[in-house]
Amino acid sequence: MFSRRTFLKNCISAATILGASGTLSQFRTGLAAEGISIPVLCYHRVGDTQGHLTVTPDKFETDLCRLRDEGYETISLETFRQYRLDPESPVPDKPILLTFDDGYLDNYLNAYLLLRKYGMTAAFFVITSLVGTPDRLSVGHIREMAAGGMSIGSHTVSHRELGEMSVEEAANEMSLSRLYLEGVVQQPIRYIAYPKGSFNESTAHVANEAAYWGGFSVMNGTCSRGTNPYILRRIPIFSFDGDVIRTMNKRRYG
Ligand SMILES: [Zn+2]
Repeated sequence: MFSRRTFLKNCISAATILGASGTLSQFRTGLAAEGISIPVLCYHRVGDTQGHLTVTPDKFETDLCRLRDEGYETISLETFRQYRLDPESPVPDKPILLTFDDGYLDNYLNAYLLLRKYGMTAAFFVITSLVGTPDRLSVGHIREMAAGGMSIGSHTVSHRELGEMSVEEAANEMSLSRLYLEGVVQQPIRYIAYPKGSFNESTAHVANEAAYWGGFSVMNGTCSRGTNPYILRRIPIFSFDGDVIRTMNKRRYG
C-alpha cells in the first residue's frame, strides 16, 4: 500500500504539523514516558466468506481464548485514550485493543457474539455511507453494540483513500462520518481508522480539526504514549495467520 520511504515521509510530515500546532505537547516522548506498549489488532470480517480479510468464527474464538490465557485484557477506545494522556490512569497489566474495519454484518453476528461470550470489548470502525445496506451493520446493530460496551469509530463516509483527497474532501469525509455516528450512538466519536491505511501530510491536521483524538493507520507496530496519535499503529490479522500470539510478536515491531 505504501513504500517504507513514503511511510517515513508521511510520519515526519505529520509529526512536524502536530508539533507546530502544539497538539502533541501532552504526549510525552522518550523511553521513560513510553510506559506499556499497547498492541492494537486489526480484523475485518469474522465469518465464512472467502478472502484474506476474513477469519472464521472458530479462529476468532481461538484468538480470544489465546489472548485471555496469555493474560491480555481488552480495553475500550476511551481507556486507550486515557492511558495515552494520563500515566496514572488505570490500565490492565497486559492491555490489548481489538479493532474491526469496514462495518460488515458479521461483526455483529459473529464477532460481537463471541466478544460478549468472553466478556471482552472491541472497537468497530464503520463506513457510514454503507450503514444499513446488504451485508453491513444497520443503525440498530451499531446502537446495540455501543450499548453492549463496544466502542464505535469512523472509517469515513465513502471508504475512499484520504491520502488521495484534497484537504476539503478529507475534512468532509471525517466530519460528516463523525456527526452521523454521533447521531446514531449519542456519544462522541473521537477515533478514525484511515481506509486502506491511506494518509498524507495533511491528514493528521485535518483529523485534529475534525475533532478526532486519534487516527489508526495500518502500519505494523504497537502504540505507546509516544506514538503519534494520528499515526497509530496496528497489527493486522489475516485469514492465513496461525496462532495470534505468534502473529502479534512477529508484527509488533513494524
Ligand atoms: Zn477499510
